[in-house]
Amino acid sequence: MTDFRSIPSVEQLLQTRLAEELIAAFGRPLTLKAIRSVLDEVRASVSNGVDLTRPDRAGILERASVLLDDWTTPTLLPLINASGVILHTNLGRAPLSAATLRAMQEVGRGYSNLEFDLGTGKRGSRLIHAETILKQLTGAQAALVVNNNAAAVLLTLAALANRRRVIIARSQLVEIGGGFRVPDVMKQSGARLVEVGTTNRIHLSDYEQALAEPAALVMHVHRSNFKMLGFTEEPELKEIAIVSHRAGVPFVDDLGSGAFLDTAKYGIAHEPTIHESLVTGADILCFSGDKLLGGPQAGIILGRADLIAKIKKHPLARAVRADKVCLAGITATLLHYLKDEAEREIPIWRMIAATPEQVKARAEGWVKELGQGEIVAGEATVGGGSLPGENIPTFLLSLSVRSPDKFLEKLRNQQPPIIARTENDRVLLDPRTVLPEQEGALLVGLHNVLKI
Ligand SMILES: *Cc1c(COP(=O)(O)O)cnc(C)c1O
Repeated sequence: MTDFRSIPSVEQLLQTRLAEELIAAFGRPLTLKAIRSVLDEVRASVSNGVDLTRPDRAGILERASVLLDDWTTPTLLPLINASGVILHTNLGRAPLSAATLRAMQEVGRGYSNLEFDLGTGKRGSRLIHAETILKQLTGAQAALVVNNNAAAVLLTLAALANRRRVIIARSQLVEIGGGFRVPDVMKQSGARLVEVGTTNRIHLSDYEQALAEPAALVMHVHRSNFKMLGFTEEPELKEIAIVSHRAGVPFVDDLGSGAFLDTAKYGIAHEPTIHESLVTGADILCFSGDKLLGGPQAGIILGRADLIAKIKKHPLARAVRADKVCLAGITATLLHYLKDEAEREIPIWRMIAATPEQVKARAEGWVKELGQGEIVAGEATVGGGSLPGENIPTFLLSLSVRSPDKFLEKLRNQQPPIIARTENDRVLLDPRTVLPEQEGALLVGLHNVLKI
């Protein structure tokens, strides 16, 4: 029978070697908290009459060590995406290029000229770093980078359309996922949305009629994550821009993804590019940094200098400004486009550009390594609110296992976790979205699970 006297004291426990090691690893206050927490558990079970095996020092400290690991392991962890969804929003969208990561690390590690003009020795602007390159890359008059594209849309409308009318097609009032709706974000800006047309059809005359009364903006929102088929009609961007300009109203295009490269080159549908939007006469463009741009989370606003100047001055610009690490990263990612090396350097474009044969060769390597599995043809997707319904032909490792759902769960419990998918009772893994440097860890994880 255990009694309270046989429970070691905190002081006794602290004198052990193991406690010293825990303190070195986790710090004294947290170690003490863990030890006290375990002692509380032990006392509670003793007073409940639970006959514990003698609560020795080693046992108590082992338990404290488990608690400490638990408390200090970050919950946000890297994982291996073998799902075949390239821009998986739940898995963090775009993996970053090596140069992007270097730039972020270098600026994050120390001080920088974030808002400091090295020429004059006086205060500078944080916005010029990315703006210079965005202007060069697109030919736009001015640009700024904010926290994300939702913030870009919110800020643009707040600065240019507060309490004024913004004309938008009913078919473009989209929900972008996680329950977030573009019209709700837009309304937060204080703008008055004027919906025109019907769900499936909108004519140029709908815009013209709405523009008979004064308006602050005409807005176009890219239908990022769904397709309209059948009896549908929508004027071309070019025509909307002409009608807006005739009424003296700026035309804003929320592109969502913001592609600099033409996706059609890779055998998938064409995603509207930044250049096209500018050429068709959009006065302001908004797009994400971490969708098809392939950079860190950011929102980019670019276009007419007079409008961008107003946007930069709005108080919300401060609330949604990008931090130095993001600015360093987005600039480094944009440089890849300027140097025409995006397809080689930006991970998501490497994934999009990989030929089915290249993917197949990697899957064959996996089969050889594992000594089991088959290779089957399948489809990958771009995801992340771009190119809905568009699939990229790919090859998959297919594993036949007793319980596919259990198998997926075990894969998720690996370190790093592995995300795969199932189809017709088979587990499928797509090499296209697995970073080459993660292949070793993937195979170790697969070996572990196949052995269990
Ligand atoms: C994704 C998306 C947004 C939101 O962009 P975030 O960078 O996720 O904030 C806004 N508008 C459209 C059309 C989008 O596709």
